[in-house]
Amino acid sequence: MTNLHSARPSASTHRVVVVGAGYAGVLAANRILASRDQARGADPARNCSVVVINPRADFVERIRLHEVAAGTRAAATVPLRDLLHRDAEIVVGSVVSIDKDRRRVEVAVGNCTDSVGYDSLVYAIGSNTDRSVPGAAEFAHHAGDVGAAEDLRASVTALAPGSVVRVVGGGSTAIEIASEIGAARSDLDVEMVSAGGVAGFMRDAARKSVLATLRRLRVTWREDTRVVEVRDRELHTADGTVLGFDVCVWAASFAVPDLAARSGLSTDVDGRLRVDSTLTSTDDAAVVGAGDAVAVASEVGAHLRMACATAMPLGGHAAATVLARMRGERAPALSLGFMVQCMSLGRKAGYLQFVHADDVPRPFGVSGRLGAAVKESICRMTVDKMRAEQNRPGAYRTPKGPRPDPVNRIAEDAR
Ligand SMILES: Cc1cc2nc3c(=O)[nH]c(=O)nc-3n(C[C@H](O)[C@H](O)[C@H](O)COP(=O)(O)OP(=O)(O)OC[C@H]3O[C@@H](n4cnc5c(N)ncnc54)[C@H](O)[C@@H]3O)c2cc1C
Repeated sequence: MTNLHSARPSASTHRVVVVGAGYAGVLAANRILASRDQARGADPARNCSVVVINPRADFVERIRLHEVAAGTRAAATVPLRDLLHRDAEIVVGSVVSIDKDRRRVEVAVGNCTDSVGYDSLVYAIGSNTDRSVPGAAEFAHHAGDVGAAEDLRASVTALAPGSVVRVVGGGSTAIEIASEIGAARSDLDVEMVSAGGVAGFMRDAARKSVLATLRRLRVTWREDTRVVEVRDRELHTADGTVLGFDVCVWAASFAVPDLAARSGLSTDVDGRLRVDSTLTSTDDAAVVGAGDAVAVASEVGAHLRMACATAMPLGGHAAATVLARMRGERAPALSLGFMVQCMSLGRKAGYLQFVHADDVPRPFGVSGRLGAAVKESICRMTVDKMRAEQNRPGAYRTPKGPRPDPVNRIAEDAR
């Protein structure tokens, strides 16, 4: 690997290393560099540089990977060089450890390793599909990364009419995968297998609408059915039932890489880096976290879910915290609220659920073709906004966080 970054950051330049170029990392990198461009006079932010480390030279639109898996979209990648600010240095490699005492990360590039020094580090390594149930990693597909989505597409394409596809999970990702495959291949038997209720997190009317669309797509579901083991072409459930399959897709939950834990940084029980209300690691002021891979202090983050809709604003806030640190200012506390949850149901339908700032559903939503159109425009917006942040820091804005008093919500719903 190049020795370009091996030297310690120079005394005059504040080097920010962004680990992971997903929704959070790209937004953080662009906002820091665009803020640098706008800095004037003696502002220390004028002297910063950003190095982005990511295992591939592309940004992956993970929120479209079910489309790739079902063959309704050829690819879901955008070259990082097009998406990142022109001055962001890109290192294609994986960070294998963080040495917080020496402020260096060790990076694996092919068979070589080298280290990169930093003044501030943005930890934004995202998540992948949790396949810890016995046999899931061996016998089940998933759609959590590009390679997996492409493998799934190849397996689904090869299926003969009447073949059985079982999608394990009942949340948004499982619903999006099952409906996308069901819509693309109406000749297959697609069934969801869920430990709880399918779309059980939705309010009643929304859930009914989503289930009606699944029914129209001939996607069936089994609820309260916990899969305890996957074997070759067989799902084994907690009550002893054996369900055969030709292709199994695991989409029950996300898991995060163990980089923070391996590096001796504090994590929650799921391995997510613990950060305070400014997104600063609870161990080290030089480490700031964003996206799926972090657990945000509950006073500002109890309502946050692992989602692109969370990762992008957290990336923006991580940038604000890093900039404050450079300037010797107090870092701002996060205030992040939601407006909608949305899911696609094949290419011709979708569901948009309006929510309160704390992500609790409001009593209205948008379904059908309009829901699909809005979901598609949101997917496009994510990439457009990341690109806009190359020269307009703050181009991507989100609502303020929830008000502390739930009585306000009850009053609002009654209106
Ligand atoms: C099929 C599917 C559909 C989804 N649909 C939606 C949706 O409709 N709405 C929504 O809000 N969310 C959705 N999600 C969830 C969403 O994709 C994630 O929450 C989001 O990608 C998290 O963003 P992130 O920036 O934290 O991480 P990621 O987007 O996962 O990016 C992390 C980056 O870090 C890199 N990385 C990992 N380890 C290292 C390392 N050691 N060194 C360097 N780089 C590393 C990864 O390769 C990746 O490029 C969906 C997910 C899937 C799989």
